[in-house]
Amino acid sequence: MPQTVASLKPLSIHATGAVDAQVFGARGARLARLAALGLDVPQALVYPPKLVDAIADGAEITWPDALGGQVLALRAAPQEAEWGGPESLLPIGVAADTLDHFIATRGEVEALRLQLQCIRNLGAAVSGATRNSIAPPPQSGDSAADLHHQIQTAREAYQAETEDAFPDTATGQLRAALRHMARGWHSASARILRAAKGAPEDAGLAIIAQVLVPNCRTGRLQFVDQSSGQAQLVGYVLQDGKEHPLSELSARECAALKALEAPLTRGHADACRVKFALDATGKPWLTDVRPAQRSARATLRIAVDLAKSELISREDALLRIEPRSLAEHLHHQIDPDETRDVVTTAMPASPGAATGRIVLSAQAAMAAEAQGEAAILVRHETSPEDIRGMHSSVGVLTIRGGMTSHAAVIARGLGLPCVVGAAELRLDMKARSFRGPKGRIFSEGDIITIDGTSGEVINGTCKMIAPDLGGPFTVLMSWADKVRSIGVRANADTPTDARAARSFNVDGIGLCRTEHMFFEPERITVMREMILADDAASRAEVLQRLLPMQRADFIDLFDIMRGLPVTIRLLDPPLHEFLPHEPDELEHLARVMNVGIDDVRARAAELAEVNPMLGMRGVRLGITMPEIYDMQARAIFQAAVAINAQGGAPVVPEIMIPLVSANREVELVKERVDAIAAAVQAETGSSFAYKLGVMVETPRAALRAKDLAKSSAFLSFGTNDLTQMTYGLSRDDAGRFMRDYVQRGVFAEDPFHTLDLEGVGELLVMAARRGRDTNPDLVLGLCGEHGGDPAAVRFCRLAGFDYVSCSPFRVPIARLAAAQASILAERGAALK
Ligand code: PEP
Ligand code: MG
Repeated sequence: MPQTVASLKPLSIHATGAVDAQVFGARGARLARLAALGLDVPQALVYPPKLVDAIADGAEITWPDALGGQVLALRAAPQEAEWGGPESLLPIGVAADTLDHFIATRGEVEALRLQLQCIRNLGAAVSGATRNSIAPPPQSGDSAADLHHQIQTAREAYQAETEDAFPDTATGQLRAALRHMARGWHSASARILRAAKGAPEDAGLAIIAQVLVPNCRTGRLQFVDQSSGQAQLVGYVLQDGKEHPLSELSARECAALKALEAPLTRGHADACRVKFALDATGKPWLTDVRPAQRSARATLRIAVDLAKSELISREDALLRIEPRSLAEHLHHQIDPDETRDVVTTAMPASPGAATGRIVLSAQAAMAAEAQGEAAILVRHETSPEDIRGMHSSVGVLTIRGGMTSHAAVIARGLGLPCVVGAAELRLDMKARSFRGPKGRIFSEGDIITIDGTSGEVINGTCKMIAPDLGGPFTVLMSWADKVRSIGVRANADTPTDARAARSFNVDGIGLCRTEHMFFEPERITVMREMILADDAASRAEVLQRLLPMQRADFIDLFDIMRGLPVTIRLLDPPLHEFLPHEPDELEHLARVMNVGIDDVRARAAELAEVNPMLGMRGVRLGITMPEIYDMQARAIFQAAVAINAQGGAPVVPEIMIPLVSANREVELVKERVDAIAAAVQAETGSSFAYKLGVMVETPRAALRAKDLAKSSAFLSFGTNDLTQMTYGLSRDDAGRFMRDYVQRGVFAEDPFHTLDLEGVGELLVMAARRGRDTNPDLVLGLCGEHGGDPAAVRFCRLAGFDYVSCSPFRVPIARLAAAQASILAERGAALK
């Protein structure tokens, strides 16, 4: 039995009072808001979900008085747009009982056209047949007689397809249309589809019945350019089924549309896009509103412009930007309109995109650069020997490796696009080519594009959009710095990095990996001599030659970073990383050093390790070959003296010991570093302060933070190694299975990319607490790649850290994430 719905009535969108999206649907709520802003919105009623459910069950309805004598469009309005819903149905209401009225008000031909469209559209929807099988579309030259004939044929087709007569009253049409939409919402397939989009089991549908503006031209428009966010009218108007640019409208019509911008932007505190209908007088009526479509760059400009116009606060502007999206301002991006011939997709290790010729060795990259050619360095994986080649390349692609593999870390530091772990590619160094899926072969010299933001490797060139660090970006960053309460430093190894870092307004250098200084061509040979030295005395002699080079490096760094802290990490990597691997390079080294090639080979073999990441590296080198750290400490102190002699704020170097696992290691290094500081002060007659700290990279160091805090001024968490060692997962090999692991839900995210808050995070919190229990002034920092991960920045702030440190190009991301963390914490506190 059809139930009565006397208590359930459609609601006017022009009614005043609060609008509930659960009752009005998202679209109904948007229309009500437009109406509340005093803008012209065609009259509309909302059938709330309960009424729609009753209609699905067969409840009777009548034509609403408020919409008497009008042609309607029915549109679905679920609570969330992505839940979908039945297609719109229009025009509705041109039936035998209303036809005379429409003939009188709109002319016979127009009235008949509407009726024909109604039969056609409703018939197709109800029966599931195509519109053309009900009737061909009305043509512009059709006469009244033609239309009468077509209507008759369409009625017959309607009856044949639906096994029902076409409803001959306006109410009958409305009932059939509403019932069709209401039942469609409850169909099994619709339920499954919206459940997949997160809709609850009992999600309801509102339906909007809106008056169709007579004799109108409809169109779409937004008030800002989608790519840049700059103010501009962008859109089209439909005429004869075709899109025409807005420039074809009259100046008066354009002005009327433009005049909508201010109330819309003010009313929504955002840039908007709208659907409109221009009536016969050229007056625009609004039929829907949404946030304007926008790229990441446009999002930033819009937010800054809104805050400058005081339509939103600066804090809200900061919260509207996804920190990671800043990467799109900092690097080249592939034009979104470009079609991509994707060869493979791997790990997006360093953002931005680049096009260049494939080179398969560092030497080839350098040669390409010398000839002014852009090169993409493709390697199985990179090692320190490739760094110069990476400098010469515009992008790096590796077959192996994960988010913190050598290639990834160095590329992020250089701001180079990088894709790693491209396991689908087979690199053949003999043939100087690689093979991709489907047997596609790419040879050295072929052009490819890599997108380090999406992880795609693309055949050929792509049109690019250049970085943009102009006005709005700088303004937003300055607002971020005013509210953030955690420091953001940069990981910077060279003067070039330090300059980049300074340009991103960092609070200092949180990690200078000194090993990178030894790969310069004039230094690597000396470094190798030192490594191959037979005993401590000859090692010390060679180190004397490295000393002035290191001193010069540190003078440069201190000079560039004047007034800001600089943390220098003592040598970390296993020594064999500095030795050549190719036979001709080994021979060259033997010649330069005037020793036999067999001796060089034997020494290299002696240094080889099964598992070098867990071997003779970090502080273990410092304990067993203390002369190396002695030299570095001396170079740091001498550089500080040299800079301090120039006046200005004194340099307070921060020396950091890597890969510590026991406090005794710290004590042993500290004794020598203190002694060297005293010696340099005595030799130079200058005094200086310095800090000695520990890099927490092993789980044991985290566990023993209480002891470490006794001998350390600061603890800086090296979360790359700490993640590796906590998981027992090699950072260089993780790429092989990471995608499978994430896809199958073993890890929510790649823990080298997003800090594992539950596991590694717990070690951080525990160590921070234990360290500060011993030494309340202990400075806490994080200097792994996670320093640029927004969630890690929020986490560190909550855990009471003083700073995070990340690659220079991720510094803006960390600054914004830090600002957002402060704003949200303050708002949360205000709510309590
Ligand atoms: C770390 O381990 O987190 C770190 C910063 O050091 P590296 O990446 O040089 O091992
Ligand atoms: Mg490390």
